[in-house]
Amino acid sequence: METLGQDLETMRRVPLAQDHVDAICAIGGEKFYPAGSIVMDMGEPLDRFVYVVEGEVEVVDPYTDERLLPASLGPTQFMGEIGFLNGATNYLRMRAAVDTRVIEAPRTAMLDLMSRVPELSDHIITVFAARRRKQYELKNSAVKVIGADRNAAVQAVERFLSRNRIPFQSYDMDGRDAETVQVCSLIGHEPAVILGRDTKLDDPTPRKVAQYLGLDLDICSQRTYDLLIVGGGPAGVAAAVYAGSEGIQALVVEDTAVGGQAGTSSRIENYMGFPTGISGTDLTWRGQVQAMKFGTRFVMPRRVESVSRREDGAYCVTLDGDNNGSDELCARAVLVATGVQYRRLPLDHLEELEGAGVFYSATEMEARFCARTDAVVIGGGNSAGQAAMFLSRAAGHVHLVVRGSSLAASMSSYLSQRLEADPRITIHYHSEVTALHGDTWLEAITLKTHQSERRIDTRALFIMIGAAPNTGWLSGLAETDEKGFVLTGAAAGQADDYATTAPGIFAVGDVRAHSVKRVASAVGEGSVVVSRIWQYLDESRRQSP
Ligand SMILES: Cc1cc2nc3c(=O)[nH]c(=O)nc-3n(C[C@H](O)[C@H](O)[C@H](O)COP(=O)(O)OP(=O)(O)OC[C@H]3O[C@@H](n4cnc5c(N)ncnc54)[C@H](O)[C@@H]3O)c2cc1C
Repeated sequence: METLGQDLETMRRVPLAQDHVDAICAIGGEKFYPAGSIVMDMGEPLDRFVYVVEGEVEVVDPYTDERLLPASLGPTQFMGEIGFLNGATNYLRMRAAVDTRVIEAPRTAMLDLMSRVPELSDHIITVFAARRRKQYELKNSAVKVIGADRNAAVQAVERFLSRNRIPFQSYDMDGRDAETVQVCSLIGHEPAVILGRDTKLDDPTPRKVAQYLGLDLDICSQRTYDLLIVGGGPAGVAAAVYAGSEGIQALVVEDTAVGGQAGTSSRIENYMGFPTGISGTDLTWRGQVQAMKFGTRFVMPRRVESVSRREDGAYCVTLDGDNNGSDELCARAVLVATGVQYRRLPLDHLEELEGAGVFYSATEMEARFCARTDAVVIGGGNSAGQAAMFLSRAAGHVHLVVRGSSLAASMSSYLSQRLEADPRITIHYHSEVTALHGDTWLEAITLKTHQSERRIDTRALFIMIGAAPNTGWLSGLAETDEKGFVLTGAAAGQADDYATTAPGIFAVGDVRAHSVKRVASAVGEGSVVVSRIWQYLDESRRQSP
């Protein structure tokens, strides 16, 4: 399967070309770090590009102050990782191992240089992506998540980090190995999130972690962007790439995690160009990196709650949070790419058990809760089918609960054939789950088939029963159909396929009425719409006095 970057171990090390170094020197300045001094600490913004001229820079374990990785950076190498593109926070402590001389260039000047010199940009991004992959695989991050097995809040943080490809280390509270015991003793054996030795997050939430990691950008309400892309699923990310490459100043606001629904799929097999499949997170992560390279910024986890139109025709959206509406973003055009979200079932205790045995996606993270238990998946669509296939590797047995009498109308035939042939999966037709059992974690469900009822012991239930569009925030500005999907093109009385009834508001992907609900079509629409938005911006610029 494709991954998110090259393997740092086997990658050929190529020094930056001399003319690239000269260009960096021209925008930067020289700095000296005596042996033992910190070049960049955890929690500092990644606001400068650091090129080593002389000496050695090592990564330090923030818990022990010892060298963390055997490899270090020497002359002709540079510091940094992919978060640099988005202005995130540094979460590795970097120290001069010996007296060290570097060139430091401000981040904005460096991004500008990278946009002008594609070979330099490609070189740096390849190394940055490989470093992120290495950090992600090594699992020796300074970000430690403890107790996701016990605590839904900690689990939400873990899901956020995992889906956003942010390296972290996870410890179960009942782990007995020496490292787990040591880390748990740092926080008094309570579920928690810790960042380095000194920072423990009380009442952890994805937003607090994002703030620390610099993902939840400081919102500058003074500025009016060209384009606000609401939603960072495949459609929004594709639009972000094309907007950046067309020189449109765009910002993506994402409520949960870049990747959207696709980010919850561990294997997308029908996206062109990946014959052995690719996980949705890796696919959209690549798009995000590409978009950031072109200068598009991402802010998350922030939810757009409402939108209004200013007198000058620009739109302003209000973000969730407790800042009394002061977190407002304005743009001359808005792209609605908010997709759909899973429906819930009207079951008693559902809310208490969400995250505690009841899940709405099936990724590696949830799969680990299926070890030593049967898993139950509800739904007859492709996403339920994929989940059942994927979970069958981890769970004792998988029960797929389907309301109808067949999968033919709702699932791709290659998938239903695999399910029917798999001895680790039982499909229960004409069935529904009518009750959940368990206090702090799901223990069993009641399955009703025709007139009979039976209890299935399970600690993992996956609800995948279709979805409703995320359009509540549109405040009625753009018309929707009776189910809430946004009307575009002819249905909205517009010549343009993706234009809505509101001038300057466009819609793409799953949220759009009559769209094909697939990754490829979402990506295609997100790519194509940008040229229409460019025309709209150009025309409105000409018309403004
Ligand atoms: C488990 C699963 C497996 C799938 N497998 C495949 C497959 O193999 N092949 C295939 O082609 N398709 C597959 N699909 C379908 C595919 O993922 C979707 O069609 C595609 O993701 C739609 O992209 P989108 O960008 O339009 O919307 P989404 O992916 O739904 O993304 C919308 C994004 O907007 C965000 N958002 C929502 N409201 C707000 C708000 N108010 N403010 C800010 N952000 C907001 C959401 O958090 C989300 O990230 C699968 C779907 C699932 C769930």
